[in-house]
Order: sequence, then structure tokens, then C-alpha cells
Amino acid sequence: MKISEHMLASHTRFRTPYYMIKGKSAGPTVIMTAGVHGNEIASIRAAEQWLNKFRQKELTITRGTLLLVPIFNQAAYKQRVRGKPDLNRTFPKSAGAAAEHPLSRDLFGLAEKLLPDWYIDLHEANGLSSVNPKRLGQTLITNTGSKAIPAVKRIISKMNSGISEPTRHFTVRLKHKEGTGRTAASRLLHAKAVTVETCWSLPLTTRIHYQSRIVHYLLEEAGLIDVIQYNRLKSKANRKR
Ligand SMILES: [Zn+2]
Repeated sequence: MKISEHMLASHTRFRTPYYMIKGKSAGPTVIMTAGVHGNEIASIRAAEQWLNKFRQKELTITRGTLLLVPIFNQAAYKQRVRGKPDLNRTFPKSAGAAAEHPLSRDLFGLAEKLLPDWYIDLHEANGLSSVNPKRLGQTLITNTGSKAIPAVKRIISKMNSGISEPTRHFTVRLKHKEGTGRTAASRLLHAKAVTVETCWSLPLTTRIHYQSRIVHYLLEEAGLIDVIQYNRLKSKANRKR
């Protein structure tokens, strides 16, 4: 496994590091972003934890490539605000249309070159979707007709089987929202694109745990990490206890 650091929008004040994490053998490509909104802390922490897991070789990518952006909107993150403009409205809205911000332009330019199999965007939102279906907290969002739908349903059932409190259960949401990274990647690049949303009124450690587990299942579904690795890691952790 090889990790290299690069910059998005490197010649602008928006410069943001991203990481290319490559497995030993060729395979699928996954783009994963967090911190598109600067106040969605659990998603940022989960992305940082995953980067550290790879750096410390706690887990390795067996095959394929992960492009990881842990904090997409650095300026918004510093102030713990959503960010203006909302970067999740600046991705290309139709084929041939331009992205409306240096960061989304750079990232989507990379996506057009890499043609990722998966595009994962980590977020947080209000409310509990299993209590109020209008809310986005505790959802996995993908687009209508997306090839990601079966995998998303499998992940939700695995997540929910480990969550004893039913109000915290995840639900699937099908949504088309122009200007989001997910919809651009789904519609224009035909990637399996998924937005992860935890409910930010839950305790931070719980939200980070949910985000991290979902990322794990997504990377497994994408084929970048082996299921067996995680089981080994779990038994190692159990032995330590
Ligand atoms: Zn968000």
C-alpha cells in the first residue's frame, strides 16, 4: 500500500490536502470526501481516523485506489460553519457545465480523469429519519436508479442490526440534488454515489463510530479492503481486553 499527499486548488487560498492511497494490485477507484460542510465534525473525524488507520497500517487497501479528502472546506472547518458558498451546490449541474468553485472544479476534474466506481461524501444532518422521514439525519442517500442501491440496503441492514435503539436506525433516501458532488458523480460519471448523514444531536463519539462503520462497509462493498482483515482485527482487539 502506498500513500501520497497532494493539494486541491493548490494555487489558491482554498488549498486543501488530499491523499491517494493505493493497494498493491489494480482494482476499483473510490473517491471519498468529508468536510464539504465545515461544521459536520463527526464525518471529518471519521475520515481522519481512516487516514490514520492506513498510515499506521492497521488496515491496508488490498486492491484499487482511494482518493481521500478529509476536510474539503478548510476555511469553513476553521470557523465550524457550513460554509459560504455552500460547496455542495457548486459541482457541475449538467454535462459540460463548469463547477462553480476552485475546490469542486479541481476535485471534479480529478473525478473525470479517474472515473471512480464509487463516490462517497460524508455529512451530518438534523433529525432522525426513522422518527421523521422528512429528516436527513441517520440516512444513506443515493440517486434514483443508482447502481449503489443494493449495496446501500445491505449496509443499512448491517448497521441497524447493531443499533439497539430503533430511533437511531438508518434509512435509505433516494434524492436528486443538483450541484452536489453525489448527483454530479452519479449522473455525469455514472459512479455509485452515496452521501452518508449522521444525526448531529447524537453524542459525537457515537456519530464518529457510525460514520466509521459505514465507511468500512462501503470500502468492503467497493472491494478495496478485505472482509477477513476486519475480523482478524476484531479478534486481536478482543484478545487485548
Ligand atoms: Zn452536509
